[in-house]
Amino acid sequence: MEQAMKPQEPLDGGRRLPLVEDFYTIQGEGFHAGKPAYFIRLGGCDVGCRWCDAKYTWNPRLYPPTGVELVVERAASCPARAIVITGGEPLLYPLGPLTEALRERGLEIFLETSGTHPLSGVFDWVCLSPKRQQPPLDAVCARADELKVIVEREEDFAWAEQSAARVSAGCLLYLQPEWSARERIMPLAVEYAKAHPRWNISIQTHKYMHIP
Ligand code: SF4
Repeated sequence: MEQAMKPQEPLDGGRRLPLVEDFYTIQGEGFHAGKPAYFIRLGGCDVGCRWCDAKYTWNPRLYPPTGVELVVERAASCPARAIVITGGEPLLYPLGPLTEALRERGLEIFLETSGTHPLSGVFDWVCLSPKRQQPPLDAVCARADELKVIVEREEDFAWAEQSAARVSAGCLLYLQPEWSARERIMPLAVEYAKAHPRWNISIQTHKYMHIP
């Protein structure tokens, strides 16, 4: 697997970030599914999920550091008021400068993270998607507004419960069938949620809409 960017790389304290892409779309997953949102995708991830649908983001060296002002200007010129910061794993980087600049423009800021690196920045919503091979940090669990657990096999329901035990009482809980296993795991996820109704089902609706 490619290595994550090391802190000594010249990111200027988070004023430049390895931008993979930024684009206007509809959030497809979780609590905010269906909401138009501007996505900012950062490069670099060291978690290595087998079924990751953004493997092209893993090597941050493919994405030269980009000034935060440029990204914020593009985001602010979009009609959407919601911004999703995703990756890769965005918490590899200090997100204070980016999120503060977005907030100055009056934008709502959502984070998608595996929670494997220290939390930085200010967010209106934190979606934590924990991964068994590299569990999240306690501080990210405590801050999560939404826990989104990808389920691929039966044993993932136990992992979902272990993760739920680490988040706050008010955190919303989602089971999201892994896309390539959805035909097999979906009925199990549905039955699990019906038997344990604090869990909700999240579907990757953007894949049905054929949008990023
Ligand atoms: Fe991909 Fe996210 Fe897993 Fe990283 S944590 S490998 S970006 S699914």
